[in-house]
Formats: sequence, structure tokens, C-alpha cells
Amino acid sequence: MKITKIKGDITPEIASSFKNSIAIDTEATGLQIPERDKLSLIQICDEMENVFIIQPDKSNYKAPNLVSVLENDKILKIGHFLRFDKNALEYFLKCKLKNIFDTKIASKIVRTYTDMHGLKNLVQEFCNKSIDKRQGSSDWNKDIDELSDKQLQYAANDVIYLHKIKDNLEKMLIREKRIEIFNRCLEFLDTRVELDQKGFKEDIFEH
Ligand code: MN
Repeated sequence: MKITKIKGDITPEIASSFKNSIAIDTEATGLQIPERDKLSLIQICDEMENVFIIQPDKSNYKAPNLVSVLENDKILKIGHFLRFDKNALEYFLKCKLKNIFDTKIASKIVRTYTDMHGLKNLVQEFCNKSIDKRQGSSDWNKDIDELSDKQLQYAANDVIYLHKIKDNLEKMLIREKRIEIFNRCLEFLDTRVELDQKGFKEDIFEH
């Protein structure tokens, strides 16, 4: 694994190096987006395990090269609990996240033998590795050059296992004949995020 730190936007060369799929995650100052919190970091891992940690310019959030990748519907974006990241990316970068695979939704639909659907649980089951999630709550607004190696490693850990997890979950979804309902859940994510943005945080289907 190689980590590249980037300020502002990815170069056109990096953007065009992404082919079929990328894994993506974001870090923010908190969970209340957009009312209180801001998008701090965007982590991307390509199919060759190159990791890019991008610190957007918070004065304008201009990142046209990154946006071109997010909006490219030929490049699959793999994420865990994209409800959060999609909201943050679309709100701050003013874009539309197209062609997605959510490992948390996939897990909930196909791993019915457990109620443990955290990234840590999936990394353990499919990659046989134990990741430390404690570093998650930290100051991601520091200048990217001041982030500690521990923080960088944590940020990278959130994306490097996602391709493998996705491959496993997709096989299970096909095997259990739940791939179509999974795909329809992904289509609904647009609406779910819009509900979040309009202040409907609860499950509107619940009694
Ligand atoms: Mn993360």
C-alpha cells in the first residue's frame, strides 16, 4: 500500500488512472452535515491498493477533477455506509455520486446470521484482520502534513479492504438471490439522503 497526500484536488493524471472501481470514505468534523459539520478529508483506494488522502480547500471546496471521478458512472464507488459520505460529498463538492456499492447495506441484506455490520466486523470476516477504529474520532481539520502516521493509517484502513469485502458480499448476494433487492436499495439511497437533508433523520417506514 502506498499513501499519497493531496491538498485541494487530485491531478487530471490521477483522475484518469481510476478505471473500473475505487473505494471511498470521508472524514468530517462531526456527524451533523450540513448544519454544523464540514467535510475534512476524502480517502480513495484504487484497484492496485494506491491510497490517496485528499484534504479539500474548505474555503471553496473546488475539486473539479475529483468531481469528474465521482460523477463518472463507469467508475464504481465502493463505500461503507454511503448515506453519510454521499451526503457530505454531494453537499460540499456540489456533485452527484454515481454508480455505488454500499458494503453496509449489502452486509445487512445478506449476512443475516449476525447483527454486526460495522466495517471492523467485515474486515475481520473477509480479510481476517483486526482494525483499530478508535482513531476515528480525531481532529481531521489539522493541515494534512500535520496528521500523525496513526491518523493517516486509520484513514487509509477505512478504504483498503473495501474492494475485497465488496467482492465477497457481491458473491453472497448473487448466491442468495438478493442482488436485485440490494440494487434497488442503492437506488433509494438518493431519496434517503434527500430526506436527511430535509431533516427527516428517523426511519419513515417505522410504525
Ligand atoms: Mn472513515
